[in-house]
Amino acid sequence: MKTFRDDKQGASSRREFLKQMALAVAGSVLTGGRIPVAASASAGPEGLTWQKAPCRFCGTGCGVLVGVKDGRVVAVQGDVESPVNRGLLCAKGYHVGLALYGRDRLTTPLLRRNGKLEPTTWEEAIDRIAREILRSPSTFAFYGSGQWTICEGYAVMKFMKGG
Ligand code: SF4
Repeated sequence: MKTFRDDKQGASSRREFLKQMALAVAGSVLTGGRIPVAASASAGPEGLTWQKAPCRFCGTGCGVLVGVKDGRVVAVQGDVESPVNRGLLCAKGYHVGLALYGRDRLTTPLLRRNGKLEPTTWEEAIDRIAREILRSPSTFAFYGSGQWTICEGYAVMKFMKGG
């Protein structure tokens, strides 16, 4: 299990997290990934609740148990019940919760104006995308990723084939 704090606490907490993560990975290798795991979707100590999720960092599809407390992800561990990774996570997998709270995480669409990216509304962004697709449909493409979920991939395929 890996716990971490919000990275708003600065670079030193990020460094500390990375050090702890490296130790956790090393420990996981030494124990063959058989880290004790709390039952999924159940309340753990101190109000921690564990939920199952896929890791979002690559297309391997490792199972992750996400520890949630007070509406925030505070811990991550590999899911020993997952046939893909059997409790193991790579270094990126241990970061998957931390990525939610990065200071540089995009929270709004960006539109390039005069060579500079500026925040805009979803309405304006979607309207702009639709206009650009209609202007030149044959030059439109979608860049997919192994990071998307099955539901997201399904929606994109429907959009590309049907739209
Ligand atoms: S834990 Fe590592 S290998 Fe597994 S899905 Fe995440 S990034 Fe990929």
